[in-house]
Order: sequence, then C-alpha cells, then structure tokens
Amino acid sequence: MTEGAGLPEVQVGSARASPGERVRGSLSIELGGGAAVELPVVILQGTSEGPSVLVSGGMHGNEVNGVVAANRVLHEIHPQQLRGTLIVLPVLNPGGFAKEDRYVPQDGADLNRAFPGAHDGTASQRLAFALWDQVLPQVLVGVDFHDAGLRNVLLPHPRIHTLIEPLNPGATDITLAMGQLMGTDVILQREGKAGMLATEARHHLGVPVINFEIGGAGIVMDDFVTRGLVGLTNLLKRLEMLEGVPQVPHVQFVLEERDIHKCSIGGVLTQRKELGEWVSAGEVVSTIVDPLTDGLEQVRATRSGVLLSMQRRSRIEAGRSVFSLLAFDGDPSDLEALKNQPGQRVISCDDTRCAIIPNKVLALALQQWRSAPPPVL
Ligand SMILES: [Zn+2]
Repeated sequence: MTEGAGLPEVQVGSARASPGERVRGSLSIELGGGAAVELPVVILQGTSEGPSVLVSGGMHGNEVNGVVAANRVLHEIHPQQLRGTLIVLPVLNPGGFAKEDRYVPQDGADLNRAFPGAHDGTASQRLAFALWDQVLPQVLVGVDFHDAGLRNVLLPHPRIHTLIEPLNPGATDITLAMGQLMGTDVILQREGKAGMLATEARHHLGVPVINFEIGGAGIVMDDFVTRGLVGLTNLLKRLEMLEGVPQVPHVQFVLEERDIHKCSIGGVLTQRKELGEWVSAGEVVSTIVDPLTDGLEQVRATRSGVLLSMQRRSRIEAGRSVFSLLAFDGDPSDLEALKNQPGQRVISCDDTRCAIIPNKVLALALQQWRSAPPPVL
C-alpha cells in the first residue's frame, strides 16, 4: 500500500489536496452590495493521518510580518514530511492588505471583532463567517500571526486570552501550553475582547487559537519572522505532525499587563534604546522635541525592565505610547523574586506546569476537550 493511500482529500473552497500535496485555491465570499473577494487558501496535506492546524496572517491589512510568516510556513514546511494537515490563509483581509489598512475597507470594521460573523451580515462579518463555517470546524488548533501595525514594533511573543472562560477547566492550560510552545521568553496573557477569533473560537467551537505578534512598523523583520516559524514548528512537533523535539527556553515569563509609557507632548521622537534592551528605572528611553514651541520631553522608564514594544515613527502626537516595558523591580537573575512580581508569572522548566506537557499530553488534552459535551450558551 502506498503512503497516504486511503486518506480522504482535504477541501477548503476551491483548494482540494490529496495526501502529500500542497494546493492553492480560494474561498469566494460575497461581501454584499455587489462586492466580492477571493480569500487565498493553501492546503498542505501530509502523507499520514493526523491533526489539522490553521495558520493565518493578514487579519489586519497593515501588518506585513504576519502575512510573511504565514507565507513562509506554506513554502518551508513540506507536505511529504508532514503528518496531518496545515490549512494556511496568509491574507485574511485582502481588501485591507491592498490598501495597507488595518480594517476591512468595505465597512471600516475590525475583522478581529467580527467573529463568529454572519453569512448575510456586513462585509467583515461575512469574511469572519467564511472562516468560521468552512475552516475552523476542520481544525484542532490555530495560530494567527499579527504585528503591531504601522507605528510600533513588538518583540515576538504569543498572546493567549482568558475572556469567556470555557466550561472545560483545562482550556486555559491548553492555550498556555500552546503559548509556551511558541518558544519565546515572553507570553502575554490577557482578557481579550468579544468578537475576537481567539476568544470566540475557543468558547463556541472548542478550537484554541493563539495570536503570535511579530515586530511591526510596516517593516519585515526576518529574524523575528523566523521566531514565529520556530514557534509553529514546535507546536507541530508536540502534536507529532513533524519529527523532532520542541525547543523551548528554560525560563519563560507570563505577563498579564505591560507597562505602557506615553508622551505628553507631540513633535519629533528619538528613541535612545533598542527593543529588547534592559533599562533601569529613571533612564531616558525616548526624547520628544516640539520645534514649534521649543518643547522638550524626556520619557523615562518608571521601573526597570526589558523593552517589549517601541514606537518607530518619528513624528508623534501627544498622548501616544512611546514604549512599553516588561517590568521587574527585583534583580533579573533572581527567579524567586520575579515569581512574586504583580501581574506576571515565571514558568521555569523546574515547575510542574512545565513538566505536565510532555509529548502527546497536549494532543490528548485537546482530544478530550473536543469530545466533551458542548457548553451551555
Ligand atoms: Zn493584528
């Protein structure tokens, strides 16, 4: 019997893939008012049976790094080496991508607040519904790549969301495990908002989706994109879709908030530090000059920590964020002290939490979660 024989085709829209194939197609979506869009879809079907994973980018049309990350996934992972299926949608908002616009141009709405969507709704609701109806029921988990938009850059990190806690108590641990597998030093955990893909899919469909943020400012940051690919590859290894052992740092930080620093005057911004750099409390990170009034503002770190995001555009308006910190009050070499910081946790590989996700456990937990009775809405 040949490898892959007996496996059914996988189909999304016009894309139909047989075992061992990479196939491109599209989802045709009527947006209302005579407008329509072809949403690009690429299926990579492996040569043996396994889970299906969604990989997406371009939810926000002004975020190039997510688009590039999803595009690299479909070229760098080979179906012949894969168990299971990858469904890759590199540009979820093609109209926004064409105009370098965060929003869906036909209705000006944020696609990542439009889930679960509606087949006869607004343009963004129809886009969301196509994903909801035709892709999400086919997948076990999803990774949705983003970046910080046109102004800021972000250190690569996954975001996991706790809003609308599913009735299954294991759900948060599953998304946290997925976040850990992304292999970055920092994991951001926050509440999320209604209408987001990640919160709605997890609650209503039992499909955990995490966001992975990569750089920004309209610039492709190749080494950051590579971090995104390493993270996705780690997840696929853990799900035994690829050969190999995930590479995860010995210590990872789970943040529940970041320390955002804003400027009070507008003008021209100069950054004095680099993304990822350690700064001490009181150090000047950003300087803003207003040449019209001779105004000068020096924005200092209110606490010590690592620069997690930075404004990259030099023209800046009053009240905008200029940088954010992953803040520590203690000595960064003192792990025990870090564990007691408000709003953040440290996972080290000595922790039981780290030890409870050996090979197969994540896949098993997901299976049990998916086969649990649906939550009462
Ligand atoms: Zn985004």
